[in-house]
Amino acid sequence: EKKIRLAVIGATGSVGGAVLDVCSRFPEIFEVTALAARCNAKKLAELGRRHGAKLLCLTEPCAGWQEDGFECLTGTKALSEIAEDDRVDHAVFASSGVAAIPALQKAISRGIDVSLANKESVVVAGPWVMPLVKRQWQLRPVDSEHSAVWQCLRDAPKEELSRIWLTASGGPFRDFTCEQMKDVTPEAALKHPIWKMGPKITIDSATLMNKGIECIEAMQLFDMPAERVGALIHPRSQVHGMAEFVDGTLKMLVSRADMRLPAAAALAWPKRLAAAEKILPPLEPSQWDLSFREIDEKLFPCYAAARWAGRVGGAMPPLLVGADESAVRHFLNHEISFMDIAGIINDVLEKYSGAAPKTLEDAIALVGEGERAADELCIKRRNV
Ligand code: NDP
Ligand code: MG
Repeated sequence: EKKIRLAVIGATGSVGGAVLDVCSRFPEIFEVTALAARCNAKKLAELGRRHGAKLLCLTEPCAGWQEDGFECLTGTKALSEIAEDDRVDHAVFASSGVAAIPALQKAISRGIDVSLANKESVVVAGPWVMPLVKRQWQLRPVDSEHSAVWQCLRDAPKEELSRIWLTASGGPFRDFTCEQMKDVTPEAALKHPIWKMGPKITIDSATLMNKGIECIEAMQLFDMPAERVGALIHPRSQVHGMAEFVDGTLKMLVSRADMRLPAAAALAWPKRLAAAEKILPPLEPSQWDLSFREIDEKLFPCYAAARWAGRVGGAMPPLLVGADESAVRHFLNHEISFMDIAGIINDVLEKYSGAAPKTLEDAIALVGEGERAADELCIKRRNV
């Protein structure tokens, strides 16, 4: 059988690493053709050699970057060239930020398989990109909760689905009081109890902004209104997502918390890989702990802000993504407090008086606008 030829955008990151780990354990199924990142030339070249890639791409390389033995591309437009390269059958979007949106659009339009971890791009570009999808599950979610929901509903007709549920570990502060939340430091927020991830998403997991953004992501991926997408705190992170059906039954997906599992599900669909044997053993029944509780929106105002943005739609989701990017960066630099993150984002959303985006370009521009507006507010706050 022919191997699946992959391009991995965001190869040097945390999800990129999970994807490449899966590929290396199933060399008879996958072939890594192209790898892309922003600027980490050393790691990209190392990965390129280890996985036998032909094509390397850096969107923001140092001047004069070139790597012997590879075809080297540079600039953000090159991501689209990779998505359109006829040596690529399947594109994996595991970069952070919104730079890969045009490439995602190209890959979907071209009809190749797409595995998507980059949630910002779905939240911002979903209304324009989702209608381009050519066949069912051409676009497969890698984000663990969405992968779980997808694995629960794979073949169910849309009319049978009544609700979807995402789970949140609740992050390191799930048992805190509002009072304790005020003194949270970046160092404490960077210690996630369960998942090992990049810094931005780790902070988003501590504020539960991540879960709020994931609810919008789920609305887009599964074409569901906000009121049919729920989220619950599930401290053990064994259930990742659930699909509830019109007959009142519920399917949940239970697995270890390891991004290689949702990555494997997306990469290999419609097959299932022997991950239990080659990646990690399954949870034993004696370990199962299926307890859930509701999310307290007072304790997690970022979650509330994102749910509101999802319900309102229009300009709010892209502004939220931009404002959060900025606020998290200022928090990590010790310039604003943990609770300021939500305050800043809410200010940006409330103050916006412009129109809803009409085009994808408008929506992408709103991310930048949200980021700039939040930057200004952060600087003001730092100076008081
Ligand atoms: P990391 O910060 O670990 O990695 C980000 C990756 O994206 C790096 O390879 C980086 O390259 C690359 N990148 C950033 N900007 C650009 C750009 N402009 N052009 C090309 N490549 C770029 O992030 P994560 O792996 O944690 O997250 C990646 C995405 O997946 C995010 O959207 C996140 O929300 C989502 N996600 C992450 C999960 C996780 O477990 N970490 C779980 C579910 C979803 P370089 O190294 O050169 O900077
Ligand atoms: Mg997730």
